[in-house]
Amino acid sequence: MQDFTDKKITVLGCARSGIAVAKLLRNANAEVLVSELQSDKNFEGEKRVFEIEGINYEFGGHTDKVLESDFIVVSPGIPDKIQILQKALKKGIPLYSEIEIASQFCEAPIVAITGSNGKTTTTSMLGKIFEKAEIPCVVAGNIGLAFSEVVHKVRRKGVAIIEVSSFQLERIAKFKPKVAMLLNLTPDHLDRYASFIDYVKAKKQIFKNLDEDDFFIYNFDDSIVAQAALETVAKKVPFSSRQNLVDGLMVVEDNVAISTDNQKRLFCNKNEIGIKGEHNLLNALAAISVAKIFEIPEEKIVEGLKEFKGVEHRLEGVATINGIEFINDSKATNVDSVWWALGSFDKPLTLIAGGKDKGVDFERLKEVVNKRVKNLILLGETANKLKKDLGSYVKGEVLKVETMHEAVRKAFELASEDEIVLLSPACSSFDMYENFEMRGKDFKNEVQLLVKEFGKNG
Ligand code: ADP
Repeated sequence: MQDFTDKKITVLGCARSGIAVAKLLRNANAEVLVSELQSDKNFEGEKRVFEIEGINYEFGGHTDKVLESDFIVVSPGIPDKIQILQKALKKGIPLYSEIEIASQFCEAPIVAITGSNGKTTTTSMLGKIFEKAEIPCVVAGNIGLAFSEVVHKVRRKGVAIIEVSSFQLERIAKFKPKVAMLLNLTPDHLDRYASFIDYVKAKKQIFKNLDEDDFFIYNFDDSIVAQAALETVAKKVPFSSRQNLVDGLMVVEDNVAISTDNQKRLFCNKNEIGIKGEHNLLNALAAISVAKIFEIPEEKIVEGLKEFKGVEHRLEGVATINGIEFINDSKATNVDSVWWALGSFDKPLTLIAGGKDKGVDFERLKEVVNKRVKNLILLGETANKLKKDLGSYVKGEVLKVETMHEAVRKAFELASEDEIVLLSPACSSFDMYENFEMRGKDFKNEVQLLVKEFGKNG
């Protein structure tokens, strides 16, 4: 590990991971400044912590003190284009992400998981499998618990399972997982990246420091991912739900199979995986690949897969009312996740979609909307764009509404028995909500109100 003693370090952004990394660095005897754009109004608790720990702070803007740093740890939400970072870059001050720093304190091997979709699901699923195997591990990163908060809780014999986003990967230097995973690559965050190519470039950083003894687990069915895999020197471990693999995890009829030198050995039945849909099968293949590298007994892996019931706001069953099943997929904040969600059901769907515009188009959904969506209810900033792009592919009603209350009521009116109402927005939530969790909770509350009025069944 680098010696941080007396290093001058700024942590830009006083959010959860920023606070955690500031403490970590302070404990390593660095001179730390936390610099936050917002005023100190809502940061009383944080300020007390900083005073106790001996961490300097400034609120209400970033001053030129930031430019005196040896390096800056930048919160994933802050883009390089802001003035203070432009100045820092001109001065040649390195910018790092929190995972870059936390990983330097980590004694345990790191499993790093990235992709456009499925990160949280796969990370949590792996957590469950390691728990079953009684291997000490921490599950952290982009998943809500900062790596810096838990890095000291795992020792050499344990494993750190870390979900990493493209924003965190952009600013790594030495971050070197033992196992890196790339689940898929589809257009997302195009409001932040100049192009899809730039986004892919950020994601590919995950294998930047791998060597021949490390592992790269990747989705062979995703052509961009498969292409990217050619660039790593690590041991390649592909997985596929649609193709034959000479080596790797694949699907043979209704079974997950391990292929070694083109010899197939059945591993478990697809139905033993606790969460449904082909996308979750892919996530499971990726998780099994990791578990096999750590030599977890196969019965423990299967136990973990069976017991894992998914994560809140990801195709989460809410209630069945009058034979209509309500499903919350508020985390479907991009087009690809909705594409997979729609393909996971064979019953007619009333889809509630829309939200903040991230600059992507919805073309990719035309065919699957035409096949599966009976009614389309549109909400938020992108309502008109969705109506224009997809409206003519819907057989039933296409309605624009103003609130989640209205959306759920209308969906309930339009759907029939043995059908599904699915919230899967294809957009982020920030036009109407603080985050996708609040949007999902609002949906679930509205469904619960219906339950109170009409009772629950099925
Ligand atoms: P992430 O952490 O990458 O955002 P999540 O596991 O939170 O991924 O899932 C986000 C959304 O994507 C949910 O709507 C979920 O149903 C869907 N999803 C999960 N796994 C995949 C996958 N492998 N491919 C496409 N969509 C997926």
